[in-house]
Amino acid sequence: MKQDIEKIIISEEELNNKVKELGQRITADFKEENPILICILRGGAIFMSDLIKQIDTPLEIDFMSVSSYGRNSSSSGIVKIRKDIDVDIQNRHVIIVEDIVDTGLTLDYISDYLKNHNPRSVSICTLLDKPEAHKLDLKIDYTGFKIGNDFVVGYGLDFAEKYRNLPYIGILKKEIYS
Ligand code: 5GP
Repeated sequence: MKQDIEKIIISEEELNNKVKELGQRITADFKEENPILICILRGGAIFMSDLIKQIDTPLEIDFMSVSSYGRNSSSSGIVKIRKDIDVDIQNRHVIIVEDIVDTGLTLDYISDYLKNHNPRSVSICTLLDKPEAHKLDLKIDYTGFKIGNDFVVGYGLDFAEKYRNLPYIGILKKEIYS
């Protein structure tokens, strides 16, 4: 796996520190509000499990799985829900936990979908953001790292289901995916 990585852009230590910082911010913003954190599978799973351990207030968790039509590595904006939420989010504070925002189309769809369930609020927490790739103006409440337009893997992010278990974020060598 490691030989397929061009460069490590975020180390394990940097990830740990950032997740801690995001957890502290969410703790301060939602103290005693019992928020529901909704993880977008599968890429958000590792981030989610580390993040909730750094949030020092009661919370609930749930999971959603979506697929985007079109090519694997780019979003079409047409989203199919493969696994819906199970909890009732009406009148509750919801925090969507995502691995990466690229065009922003997936999160825009999920956010609108969840807002239709009448939650008290919907916030977005993403580990990574590619601002240059945004195709719409998406309000992101918690961002771990802003990165360039390279295709990255590790810490939950895959290419063809591989590399999710790398403990860092790395740029995949172009010859692997092109
Ligand atoms: P968006 O709808 O924002 O364009 O796409 C978001 C989804 O595209 C992410 O949840 C992720 O599945 C995928 N994606 C976008 N950029 C990358 C990347 O650099 N690496 C990986 N592994 N997935 C990406």
